[in-house]
Amino acid sequence: MQGNIISMFWAQKTLKDEIACTGIGLHSGQKVNLRIRPALPNTGIVFKRVDLPGKPEVKAHVLNVADNRLATTIGQDGVTVSTIEHLLAAFWSMGVDNAIVELDAPEVPIMDGSAAPFVYLIKSTGLKAQLASKKIFVLKRPLRVREGDKWIHLTPVSELELTVHFMIDFDHPLLKKQTYTFHFSPTRFEKEISRARTFGFLKEVEWLRAQGLARGGSLDNAVVIDEFRILNKEGLRYKNEFVRHKILDLVGDLALLGCPLIAKINAYKSGHALNHKLAKQIWRNQHLGQIITLTPPQKTAITEEATFCSR
Ligand SMILES: [Zn+2]
Repeated sequence: MQGNIISMFWAQKTLKDEIACTGIGLHSGQKVNLRIRPALPNTGIVFKRVDLPGKPEVKAHVLNVADNRLATTIGQDGVTVSTIEHLLAAFWSMGVDNAIVELDAPEVPIMDGSAAPFVYLIKSTGLKAQLASKKIFVLKRPLRVREGDKWIHLTPVSELELTVHFMIDFDHPLLKKQTYTFHFSPTRFEKEISRARTFGFLKEVEWLRAQGLARGGSLDNAVVIDEFRILNKEGLRYKNEFVRHKILDLVGDLALLGCPLIAKINAYKSGHALNHKLAKQIWRNQHLGQIITLTPPQKTAITEEATFCSR
């Protein structure tokens, strides 16, 4: 495991070449063209709205979260980009540090409701290591966030590992108490988490539609459940696909920190709002951990400077 983390994180990475796809926005129902370009070291993940005058940019950063009611939306100077979490989870997990994401609509395409299409695109072009050191955040003291009956606990670990243990507990016969433990590595993310689709209850979908939302939602990009059964003819991709998707969302939301996190995460019923609260707490309480700078080829330098990548 340690080998995986070090080999993955010794330097910043970007894409070897640009990749592109077309899809629809889950909430807007609008067609979206997405083009992801390689970027210089220390760029981070930057979204560029090419449909707007001046092609304004919004950086994927926890301090830029503008809305989290249904998906993760970031914004800067009134320009927003929504539903970024599945793409960010794919970048973070596959080790993409720097990229420019151009899109001609306010929402990242939902594709099949999972991160698998983005993982496929990233793997199809491959990654290029860059001559720039990489920071990781190693938690040294516990951290807890809570909202009602939902909570997330973070504890330090002795190895350079990220483990996520998640439990959901819905008042529904198909969703009662699902748990999953994910030991982070790019390969495990691809196999165990990336294919888990977003899900919703039929009643909620009907309500969202009445509000003008979920216009692009269909059985092609979400698992939909009525009171007793799954409406998708093909069934589930994993027996516990729901909790795995919650881990996917959490990973995508923590990617807003801009660098990898080393800790053990225990989450209960969390969603985007609590995930962002956690990411903000980590950002604001950097004294709870240590920033380690990994430099090529195998030298590890511990910095005194306690700062994340810039906003
Ligand atoms: Zn999701």
